[in-house]
Amino acid sequence: MDKFYNQLKANNKEWVAQQLEKDPAFFSKLENGQQPPLLWIGCADSRVPANQIIGAQPGEVFVHRNIANMVVHTDMNMLSVLDYAVNALKVKHVIVCGHYGCGGVKAAMGNDSIGLIDNWIRHIKNVYRLHKTEIDSIEDEKQKWDRFVELNVKEQVFDLAKTSIVQNAWHNGQDLQLHGWAYGVGDGIVKDLDVNISSDKQLDSVYQLNF
Ligand code: ZN
Repeated sequence: MDKFYNQLKANNKEWVAQQLEKDPAFFSKLENGQQPPLLWIGCADSRVPANQIIGAQPGEVFVHRNIANMVVHTDMNMLSVLDYAVNALKVKHVIVCGHYGCGGVKAAMGNDSIGLIDNWIRHIKNVYRLHKTEIDSIEDEKQKWDRFVELNVKEQVFDLAKTSIVQNAWHNGQDLQLHGWAYGVGDGIVKDLDVNISSDKQLDSVYQLNF
């Protein structure tokens, strides 16, 4: 085994020791179950670690990550995480967190085929098509990319609200708020994109479901 791989196990031992030093009951308390108030849907990018960014401890945030923090309605993985978070854990907040410099979003702006992932990226291209006028009006490539990141997050928040899972929770009177953020990998700062949805009334009527 190489040095890097062995170091991971050494790091774990050290982390356990540190946690126990701070609180001898740290792990035994977690054994009783979880009740996180937050579901995080973020990018798989290694520079955007959910817990660290928001200073969350184990047990405080339920996490789903994929390339470009997408909410794809046929994604059983995402739907299962969402269903469990909303219906079993009863989270109060869902944050979709994108990040500036997202490679998935960048790929969606271009035309190069990069393999199987083209099929995933295509969902991001749909966001581009929806906001083509605005995105194309920005000349600076970096600004264009940044804005596309933000618009993609907003669309994913709306896509969350369109799911039967979220709408059913609202129908049942559950307090559930959806938010969109963009994270700066270069400065660590989160930008609240001010897309907060807590009712199906904020959706176009064609998406509103009657139960
Ligand atoms: Zn990304």
